[in-house]
Amino acid sequence: MTNIVLLCNEKQQQTIHHFYKDAIIERKAPGVLFAVKLADTAITAYKSGKVMFQGAGAEREAARWGNASSAPVKVATNKGDKLPEDFASLSVIGSDETGTGDYFGPVTVAAVYVPADKIALIKELGVKDSKQLTDDYMRRIAPDLMEVCAHSILTLRNEKYNEIQARGYSQGKIKALLHNQAIKHVLTKIAPETPEYILIDQFAERGIYYNHIKNEKEIVQEKVLFSTKAENLHVAVATASILARYAFLKEMDRLSKVTGFPLQKGASGKVDDMAAKIWMKFGEETLRSMTKWHFANTEKARKLLQKRK
Ligand code: MN
Repeated sequence: MTNIVLLCNEKQQQTIHHFYKDAIIERKAPGVLFAVKLADTAITAYKSGKVMFQGAGAEREAARWGNASSAPVKVATNKGDKLPEDFASLSVIGSDETGTGDYFGPVTVAAVYVPADKIALIKELGVKDSKQLTDDYMRRIAPDLMEVCAHSILTLRNEKYNEIQARGYSQGKIKALLHNQAIKHVLTKIAPETPEYILIDQFAERGIYYNHIKNEKEIVQEKVLFSTKAENLHVAVATASILARYAFLKEMDRLSKVTGFPLQKGASGKVDDMAAKIWMKFGEETLRSMTKWHFANTEKARKLLQKRK
C-alpha cells in the first residue's frame, strides 16, 4: 500500500482541509487534526503538521500538495493564475482541447458552463478526475452531460487543420482560436446569465494566448483565468475535457469507417505502420485527409512505403 507523508504548516493544513471538505470523516485518535476518506485514498492530518496519504490514490492526491516529506511544502502544483479559495463551488465556464498529439484525427475543443447549482449533478453523472476515465466510460457519460450543460464543441477536421497549418498557423494559435470561439458560443447560449469565472486549461501563458487571437473580432478576456491541470480545479473543465474527447472519438469513428479498421491514437511507430498501410491501399489524398500531415509520422510512413514497394 502506498503511504506518503507530507510535512505542512498550519495554513497548508487548512487549505488541504478546505479542499476535501466534502469528504471529511470523524476520526477520534490521539493527535489527529482531521481525516478524509476518498474512494481510493485515506488522508490523515496530524497536529504535528504531518499529513498522511494512504491507498491506491495516495500518490495522485499527495501530488496536489507537494513533494513527500520535503519542507517547506508547496501547496498546489498547478501552474497559472491564483484562484479564489472556493473556486470549485462557483459558476464557471471551463474549456479544454484534445487530439493535438495524435497523428490521426481532429483537434477538438469544448467549452462547458457548469453553474454552482449543477455541480453536484455533474459529479453524480460521473465526472471525476479525467486521468481515471477510459474512452468507453467517456462515451457513455458524454450524452448526459451534453443534455444537462450549456456547451460548445468544435471539431477541426484534418482537411481544415492541414490547410491552416500550411498557411503558417501554429498548434498554439489553432488551439487559442478554437478556445476563444467555443467560450464565445457558450457565453451567447447562457446570456443574460454570466459565469463568475472562465477557466481555460492552460496550454500557453496568458500573453501568448491573447497574442494568438489578437486579430479576432471578439476576444473573450473578462473573468478569464488560466491554470494547468485545470480539470482538477473545477468540474466545468473536467466536463469540457470529456466532451472534447467524446468529439475526438466520434470523428475517429467516422474516419475508421473509411479505412475499415480503427485508427491508432498517438504518434508512435504503430501509427507510422498504419499510415504506410493506408497510403498503399487508399493513396496519399486519403491519408492526408485523416492525419495531421506536418507530423514527422508522414515522412516515416513515406520511408516505410518505399521499402514495401
Ligand atoms: Mn488540456
